[in-house]
Amino acid sequence: MGYEAMYRRSVEQPEEFWGEMARAIDWHEPPKKILEYDNPPFRRWFAGGTTNLCHNAVDRHLDARGDQLALVGWSSETGTVRELTYRQLHREVNTFAAVLRSLGVGKGDRVVIYMPHTVDAAVAMLACARIGAIHSVVFGGFAAHNLAVRIDDAKPRVLVCADAGMRGGKVIPFKPLVDEALDRARHPPANVLVVSRGLAPVPVRAGRDVDYATLRRDHEDAEVPVTWLESNEPSYILYTSGTTGKPKGVQRDVGGYAVALALSMWSVYDIRPGQVMFSTSDIGWVVGHSYNVYGPLIAGATSIMYEGLPTSPDPGIWWKICERYGVRTMFSSPTAIRVLKKHDVDFIRRHDLSGLEYLFLAGEPLDEPTAQWIHEALGKPVIDNYWQTETGWPVLCLLPGLEMKQVKFGSPGLPNLGFRLRVIDETTGHDARAGEKGVLVIEPPLPPGCMTTVWGDDQRFLSSYFGHFKELLYSSLDWAIRDEDGYTFILGRTDDVINVAGHRLGTREIEESVASHPAVAEAAVVGVHDEVKGQVPVVFATLKQADVPPPEVACGMIRTVTEQLGPVARPARVYVVGALPKTRSGKLLRRSLQALAEHRDPGDLSTLDDPRALEEVQRALERGADAGG
Ligand code: ATP
Ligand code: MG
Repeated sequence: MGYEAMYRRSVEQPEEFWGEMARAIDWHEPPKKILEYDNPPFRRWFAGGTTNLCHNAVDRHLDARGDQLALVGWSSETGTVRELTYRQLHREVNTFAAVLRSLGVGKGDRVVIYMPHTVDAAVAMLACARIGAIHSVVFGGFAAHNLAVRIDDAKPRVLVCADAGMRGGKVIPFKPLVDEALDRARHPPANVLVVSRGLAPVPVRAGRDVDYATLRRDHEDAEVPVTWLESNEPSYILYTSGTTGKPKGVQRDVGGYAVALALSMWSVYDIRPGQVMFSTSDIGWVVGHSYNVYGPLIAGATSIMYEGLPTSPDPGIWWKICERYGVRTMFSSPTAIRVLKKHDVDFIRRHDLSGLEYLFLAGEPLDEPTAQWIHEALGKPVIDNYWQTETGWPVLCLLPGLEMKQVKFGSPGLPNLGFRLRVIDETTGHDARAGEKGVLVIEPPLPPGCMTTVWGDDQRFLSSYFGHFKELLYSSLDWAIRDEDGYTFILGRTDDVINVAGHRLGTREIEESVASHPAVAEAAVVGVHDEVKGQVPVVFATLKQADVPPPEVACGMIRTVTEQLGPVARPARVYVVGALPKTRSGKLLRRSLQALAEHRDPGDLSTLDDPRALEEVQRALERGADAGG
């Protein structure tokens, strides 16, 4: 069956379609009803069925592929490689689960995991899944404040942490951060379980902190039976990146998630049992959950987990790993590719990449120059895919495992199976025509794999996502345009709109135009209050070379935008800076840029990656614009 036929079936006969797809995973008790939808937009996939993520990811492969590699943890930071077969992974997970149980963790209890991107972290997640505990992984690069906020929302029984993470060769002790977070938190966990790699000393609070290595000795041969969960019980909570404000606790189910991942592993990522997938994400993000841990393991594949910078020990490291393990599908982000683009393409070309079939990129807009560069360097399809923490798996993509369609640069492709997508005019609520801009929405019921609610806050789930139109529709909060062939282009976030004298402009369009100037490395555009026009576009840009005069380039940027998009989009001011403020997940913090440009408080900066970038912006604003103004 080709893509069109399969897609049509998935949205026109969802119960038949998903009933069939559900056979790809093991059920302890089969679903009684494929879809229960009596309380829209809440829906229950595979109601009455019982299953378990850990069983599907680990146990069920033991017979057929016990000695195949399941996880490879490659750390450029510690200079170590850890390989676990499915059998070894099963052993580790059972031991970890037994340790958690000895701390009183059981079904429905929350466990916060604050660890670097290591095999240990994946083991901790799978151990939670095994015993029906709900994990909430907090990105290991977040500071004490971010951690405390998430702890207070998830109210965990146990927090699992590492002794330290490393970044660019520098050891970052985690335990002092955890202690600080727990001092601030109103709902600190009863125990902190420390998994040490021997990188940093671990200050111990007696009675609360326990050492994993010590406890595991008592549980080395433990067999912990799987706790079967009803398909709709929560498997995990994961907070969104916080690009647009207070992060939301995305709650995921068990059965729907497993089925969606099993489907996407072959149809989207074209990975079959025994093949190798390398996602460069982090377990702290949704891609790490879906395509470092659960997806590849449910598929019986080998998953590579990489800890470190893409440029260290040299910018060829990822391709070396691809060659070494025969990676078939690689998954990364535009930000990472932009980093590699600054280096010689020979770092890629010198490796034998004959086994590599695809590079998938997701997480932010993929600009054409970046896509072109990596496409030419690899000679493989570069596939943009669009999704959100909320959706758990791709919403827009190409599905080469089903049928490879043409790549159109600038578009993440076509609707994924099961997603009823529409582009809606923001004011009228009517469907936008081909080529017309609107808000990308999903018609409920959301397909399996998507969030079930906001943790502990059904009301926020309804108001954040379903309260934007008269019709009951899930708003992605992203602008989109669909072309005649059904390819969708993402134009930016709905709160990233500039209203110049009544004209509504998307920041992404202006950013792309600015970035088409040959001297510009990256650009951020925000709407800044203006007495006359309401708002005007203001540009912050970084340059490719330090030796060109900023005012000259800045004037060039204004000319470029005016020529390409017309005088309405003409930037009022251009500031050349050394770095742009981004979240830890690599997304531009336009919200903070806008606030600074309007002399307001930049707001919640807890997800900010590098404080120096914001200081630079502040200095640039004080100094005055390089052009305009
Ligand atoms: P928050 O919702 O807390 O503000 P966030 O939206 O950055 O944070 P994520 O769920 O990590 O959190 O990111 C999803 C968003 O990233 C999408 O809504 C979209 O704006 C952007 N995005 C993801 N993939 C793509 C893509 N392929 N092309 C364009 N934008 C993308
Ligand atoms: Mg979001």
